[in-house]
Amino acid sequence: MNKEILFATHNRGKLEEARSYLSPLGYLVYGLDDLYLTEEVREDGESYEENAYLKAKAFSHLPFPVFSDDSGLEVEALGGQPGLHTARFAAEKGGYREAMAALAKEVGNNPGARYVCTICLIEKEGGKPLFFTGICEGEILQEPVGDQGFGFDPAFKSAEGVYFGLASQEEKARVSHRGRALLRLATYLAI
Ligand code: IMP
Repeated sequence: MNKEILFATHNRGKLEEARSYLSPLGYLVYGLDDLYLTEEVREDGESYEENAYLKAKAFSHLPFPVFSDDSGLEVEALGGQPGLHTARFAAEKGGYREAMAALAKEVGNNPGARYVCTICLIEKEGGKPLFFTGICEGEILQEPVGDQGFGFDPAFKSAEGVYFGLASQEEKARVSHRGRALLRLATYLAI
């Protein structure tokens, strides 16, 4: 029988990445939209951990385990920014296309960047939160490549040479920050 788990996200791309790791373990992974949960949680924490915790805790009253993630893009030439504020950075630039063009210009010949993702798992209401982090090193591309994935994906190539804008869900999840964090979560859930 399938075990149920909620990924507290509205993002279909993130949900598919999570399913590619957890479905093989027999988990039925719901997203917020699958359960008609429309609540938006304010992400006003000061770290990826805090934000992931806020989002998981908001749904921890449900009768199955819940996890959430918080992620960001840390750009070397910008001293690690936009990091926690990546979504806001894109909004302020007027959208992802504009934000990718702005990043390409700002990094110049120092394109090093990494994605960071922290997952918070709360197994039952009042339970201790557990954290799983994954990092994906890579670089910002001067021109976006492909149209797969979401957010900044077309502007990013991982250190393994995976173009996130061209990669399938599975190819991306094998090396991505979220994939690495999910592997840690899956390993925990499997034992
Ligand atoms: P969130 O707060 O975890 O939803 O993510 C912050 C922002 O980071 C997102 O809105 C995206 O702009 C960016 N981001 C995080 N992970 C990814 C990814 O896997 N691909 C592309 N962009 C991402």
